[in-house]
Amino acid sequence: MPPYPRVDQSLSTFVDRFPERNKVPDFTTFSSLLRMTAKYEMPAVRSQLLEVTRDAYPATLKSVNPSKTHGESVFSGPTPHPNAVLNLFVQQRLMSALPMAYYMAVRRGPDSLMDGCLPASARLSPGILQVAIKGLIALREMELKETYRLISGSKGSRPCSRQNCPSRNPMDPGVLEARQRVADHIADSVHSGTRLLRVLSLREVCGNSFVFCEGCMGGWESGHAEVRKKAWAVLPVVFGLTA
Ligand SMILES: [Zn+2]
Repeated sequence: MPPYPRVDQSLSTFVDRFPERNKVPDFTTFSSLLRMTAKYEMPAVRSQLLEVTRDAYPATLKSVNPSKTHGESVFSGPTPHPNAVLNLFVQQRLMSALPMAYYMAVRRGPDSLMDGCLPASARLSPGILQVAIKGLIALREMELKETYRLISGSKGSRPCSRQNCPSRNPMDPGVLEARQRVADHIADSVHSGTRLLRVLSLREVCGNSFVFCEGCMGGWESGHAEVRKKAWAVLPVVFGLTA
Protein backbone atom coordinates (compact mmCIF):
# COMPACT_ATOMS: atom_id res chain seq x y z
CA MET A 1 0.00 0.00 0.00
CA PRO A 2 1.46 3.39 -0.96
CA PRO A 3 2.14 5.69 1.98
CA TYR A 4 -0.28 8.45 1.01
CA PRO A 5 -3.05 6.75 -0.96
CA ARG A 6 -5.65 9.49 -0.76
CA VAL A 7 -3.40 12.45 -1.42
CA ASP A 8 -1.63 10.59 -4.18
CA GLN A 9 -4.86 9.72 -5.90
CA SER A 10 -6.30 13.22 -5.85
CA LEU A 11 -2.96 14.60 -6.94
CA SER A 12 -2.86 12.24 -9.90
CA THR A 13 -6.33 13.28 -10.97
CA PHE A 14 -5.24 16.86 -10.70
CA VAL A 15 -2.00 16.50 -12.57
CA ASP A 16 -3.62 14.44 -15.30
CA ARG A 17 -5.17 17.68 -16.38
CA PHE A 18 -1.79 19.38 -16.48
CA PRO A 19 -0.59 20.87 -18.67
CA GLU A 20 -3.56 22.23 -20.50
CA ARG A 21 -2.47 22.83 -24.06
CA ASN A 22 0.63 25.01 -23.84
CA LYS A 23 -0.71 26.69 -20.76
CA VAL A 24 1.45 27.33 -17.72
CA PRO A 25 -0.65 27.25 -14.54
CA ASP A 26 -0.82 30.21 -12.20
CA PHE A 27 2.10 30.59 -9.82
CA THR A 28 0.28 29.32 -6.71
CA THR A 29 -0.77 26.11 -8.47
CA PHE A 30 2.66 25.76 -10.03
CA SER A 31 4.36 26.08 -6.61
CA SER A 32 2.08 23.52 -4.95
CA LEU A 33 2.54 21.06 -7.78
CA LEU A 34 6.30 21.49 -7.73
CA ARG A 35 6.44 20.93 -3.95
CA MET A 36 4.14 17.90 -4.14
CA THR A 37 6.13 16.26 -6.93
CA ALA A 38 9.19 16.44 -4.70
CA LYS A 39 7.38 15.24 -1.59
CA TYR A 40 5.54 12.33 -3.19
CA GLU A 41 8.20 11.51 -5.77
CA MET A 42 6.39 12.03 -9.01
CA PRO A 43 9.26 12.41 -11.47
CA ALA A 44 7.08 12.41 -14.61
CA VAL A 45 4.99 15.37 -13.50
CA ARG A 46 8.01 17.11 -12.06
CA SER A 47 9.87 16.91 -15.34
CA GLN A 48 6.90 18.54 -17.08
CA LEU A 49 7.06 21.40 -14.60
CA LEU A 50 10.80 21.67 -15.02
CA GLU A 51 10.37 21.91 -18.77
CA VAL A 52 8.18 24.98 -18.30
CA THR A 53 10.86 26.42 -16.04
CA ARG A 54 13.64 25.71 -18.51
CA ASP A 55 11.85 27.63 -21.26
CA ALA A 56 10.97 30.61 -19.09
CA TYR A 57 14.27 30.75 -17.20
CA PRO A 58 16.90 29.70 -19.74
CA ALA A 59 20.35 28.88 -18.42
CA THR A 60 22.28 30.17 -21.42
CA LEU A 61 21.86 32.76 -24.15
CA LYS A 62 21.74 29.88 -26.64
CA SER A 63 18.63 28.45 -25.04
CA VAL A 64 16.78 31.77 -25.15
CA ASN A 65 13.84 31.48 -27.50
CA PRO A 66 12.92 35.05 -28.51
CA SER A 67 9.37 34.02 -29.42
CA LYS A 68 8.68 32.73 -25.91
CA THR A 69 7.77 34.56 -22.72
CA HIS A 70 10.52 34.76 -20.12
CA GLY A 71 10.52 35.26 -16.40
CA GLU A 72 7.53 35.59 -14.11
CA SER A 73 5.11 36.68 -16.85
CA VAL A 74 5.10 33.09 -18.11
CA PHE A 75 2.62 32.13 -15.36
CA SER A 76 -1.07 32.53 -16.06
CA GLY A 77 -3.16 34.50 -13.60
CA PRO A 78 -1.60 37.31 -11.57
CA THR A 79 2.10 37.80 -12.29
CA PRO A 80 4.07 36.73 -9.21
CA HIS A 81 6.74 38.96 -7.67
CA PRO A 82 10.16 37.84 -8.95
CA ASN A 83 11.29 37.43 -5.31
CA ALA A 84 8.58 34.78 -4.79
CA VAL A 85 9.77 32.88 -7.85
CA LEU A 86 13.36 33.12 -6.65
CA ASN A 87 12.38 31.79 -3.20
CA LEU A 88 10.59 28.82 -4.74
CA PHE A 89 13.45 27.99 -7.09
CA VAL A 90 16.02 28.19 -4.30
CA GLN A 91 13.90 26.00 -2.04
CA GLN A 92 13.27 23.47 -4.81
CA ARG A 93 16.90 23.60 -5.96
CA LEU A 94 16.13 24.38 -9.59
CA MET A 95 19.80 25.06 -10.20
CA SER A 96 19.73 25.73 -13.93
CA ALA A 97 16.91 28.27 -13.55
CA LEU A 98 18.50 30.11 -10.62
CA PRO A 99 20.82 32.51 -12.49
CA MET A 100 17.91 33.91 -14.48
CA ALA A 101 15.59 33.92 -11.44
CA TYR A 102 18.18 35.98 -9.52
CA TYR A 103 18.55 38.30 -12.49
CA MET A 104 14.78 38.83 -12.75
CA ALA A 105 14.68 39.76 -9.06
CA VAL A 106 17.69 42.08 -9.05
CA ARG A 107 16.88 43.92 -12.25
CA ARG A 108 14.26 45.91 -10.32
CA GLY A 109 16.88 47.17 -7.90
CA PRO A 110 17.43 47.07 -4.11
CA ASP A 111 14.05 48.61 -3.15
CA SER A 112 12.24 45.74 -4.80
CA LEU A 113 14.60 43.14 -3.31
CA MET A 114 14.10 44.48 0.21
CA ASP A 115 10.47 45.62 -0.04
CA GLY A 116 9.06 45.20 3.49
CA CYS A 117 5.44 45.23 2.34
CA LEU A 118 5.69 42.01 0.37
CA PRO A 119 3.87 38.85 1.47
CA ALA A 120 6.01 36.29 3.29
CA SER A 121 6.41 34.18 0.15
CA ALA A 122 8.17 37.08 -1.58
CA ARG A 123 10.38 38.17 1.31
CA LEU A 124 13.99 37.16 0.85
CA SER A 125 16.02 35.55 3.61
CA PRO A 126 19.22 37.39 4.65
CA GLY A 127 21.27 34.74 2.85
CA ILE A 128 19.45 35.07 -0.48
CA LEU A 129 19.38 38.85 -0.15
CA GLN A 130 23.12 38.98 0.35
CA VAL A 131 23.76 36.91 -2.78
CA ALA A 132 21.29 39.03 -4.75
CA ILE A 133 22.79 42.39 -3.72
CA LYS A 134 26.34 41.22 -4.39
CA GLY A 135 25.26 39.99 -7.81
CA LEU A 136 23.39 43.19 -8.57
CA ILE A 137 26.46 45.29 -7.79
CA ALA A 138 28.62 43.12 -10.04
CA LEU A 139 26.13 43.31 -12.91
CA ARG A 140 25.73 47.07 -12.61
CA GLU A 141 29.47 47.53 -12.62
CA MET A 142 29.71 45.43 -15.76
CA GLU A 143 26.82 47.29 -17.38
CA LEU A 144 28.37 50.70 -16.72
CA LYS A 145 31.85 49.68 -17.77
CA GLU A 146 30.97 47.71 -20.89
CA THR A 147 28.37 50.13 -22.20
CA TYR A 148 30.66 53.08 -21.62
CA ARG A 149 33.47 51.30 -23.41
CA LEU A 150 31.15 50.56 -26.30
CA ILE A 151 29.85 54.09 -26.74
CA SER A 152 33.18 55.86 -26.30
CA GLY A 153 35.11 53.46 -28.53
CA SER A 154 37.97 51.51 -27.03
CA LYS A 155 41.60 52.43 -27.73
CA GLY A 156 42.16 49.88 -30.48
CA SER A 157 38.81 50.35 -32.25
CA ARG A 158 38.92 51.85 -35.73
CA PRO A 159 36.96 55.00 -36.44
CA CYS A 160 33.90 54.88 -38.65
CA SER A 161 34.84 54.56 -42.34
CA ARG A 162 32.24 57.04 -43.60
CA GLN A 163 33.88 60.35 -44.29
CA ASN A 164 30.93 62.45 -43.19
CA CYS A 165 30.05 60.48 -40.05
CA PRO A 166 30.18 62.79 -37.01
CA SER A 167 31.50 59.93 -34.88
CA ARG A 168 34.91 60.40 -36.59
CA ASN A 169 35.35 63.51 -34.51
CA PRO A 170 35.19 62.57 -30.84
CA MET A 171 34.79 66.25 -29.90
CA ASP A 172 31.72 66.70 -32.10
CA PRO A 173 29.02 68.16 -29.79
CA GLY A 174 26.43 65.74 -31.18
CA VAL A 175 28.66 62.78 -30.40
CA LEU A 176 29.38 64.05 -26.90
CA GLU A 177 25.66 64.55 -26.28
CA ALA A 178 24.85 61.05 -27.55
CA ARG A 179 27.51 59.55 -25.27
CA GLN A 180 26.19 61.47 -22.33
CA ARG A 181 22.68 60.19 -22.99
CA VAL A 182 23.83 56.58 -23.08
CA ALA A 183 25.83 57.07 -19.88
CA ASP A 184 22.81 58.67 -18.14
CA HIS A 185 20.52 55.93 -19.34
CA ILE A 186 22.76 53.24 -17.88
CA ALA A 187 23.49 55.13 -14.66
CA ASP A 188 19.83 55.43 -13.72
CA SER A 189 18.69 51.99 -14.87
CA VAL A 190 15.26 51.82 -13.26
CA HIS A 191 15.79 52.34 -9.52
CA SER A 192 19.40 51.22 -9.65
CA GLY A 193 18.46 47.84 -11.03
CA THR A 194 19.94 46.49 -14.23
CA ARG A 195 18.92 46.06 -17.84
CA LEU A 196 22.08 44.30 -18.84
CA LEU A 197 20.40 41.43 -20.69
CA ARG A 198 18.09 43.65 -22.68
CA VAL A 199 18.71 44.90 -26.19
CA LEU A 200 19.65 48.57 -25.88
CA SER A 201 18.60 50.65 -28.87
CA LEU A 202 21.03 53.49 -29.46
CA ARG A 203 18.43 55.26 -31.56
CA GLU A 204 15.88 55.18 -28.75
CA VAL A 205 18.30 56.29 -26.07
CA CYS A 206 19.74 59.14 -28.12
CA GLY A 207 16.38 60.38 -29.37
CA ASN A 208 16.77 63.60 -31.34
CA SER A 209 20.49 63.77 -30.62
CA PHE A 210 21.10 60.66 -32.69
CA VAL A 211 24.13 61.35 -34.89
CA PHE A 212 25.41 57.98 -36.00
CA CYS A 213 25.53 56.45 -39.47
CA GLU A 214 24.31 52.95 -40.38
CA GLY A 215 27.83 51.59 -40.04
CA CYS A 216 28.17 52.95 -36.52
CA MET A 217 24.80 51.47 -35.66
CA GLY A 218 25.84 48.04 -36.88
CA GLY A 219 28.98 48.30 -34.75
CA TRP A 220 26.96 49.28 -31.70
CA GLU A 221 24.46 46.47 -32.18
CA SER A 222 27.06 43.75 -32.59
CA GLY A 223 29.09 45.23 -29.72
CA HIS A 224 26.10 45.26 -27.42
CA ALA A 225 25.20 41.71 -28.44
CA GLU A 226 28.70 40.73 -27.28
CA VAL A 227 28.11 42.47 -23.96
CA ARG A 228 24.86 40.55 -23.44
CA LYS A 229 26.60 37.31 -24.33
CA LYS A 230 29.29 38.04 -21.73
CA ALA A 231 26.62 38.94 -19.18
CA TRP A 232 24.80 35.64 -19.69
CA ALA A 233 28.06 33.81 -19.22
CA VAL A 234 28.82 35.49 -15.89
CA LEU A 235 25.32 35.18 -14.35
CA PRO A 236 26.04 31.93 -12.48
CA VAL A 237 29.36 33.36 -11.27
CA VAL A 238 28.02 36.66 -9.91
CA PHE A 239 25.25 34.83 -8.06
CA GLY A 240 27.68 32.33 -6.56
CA LEU A 241 26.10 29.36 -8.31
CA THR A 242 29.24 27.73 -9.65
CA ALA A 243 30.54 24.74 -7.77
ZN1 LIG B 1 29.54 56.19 -38.59
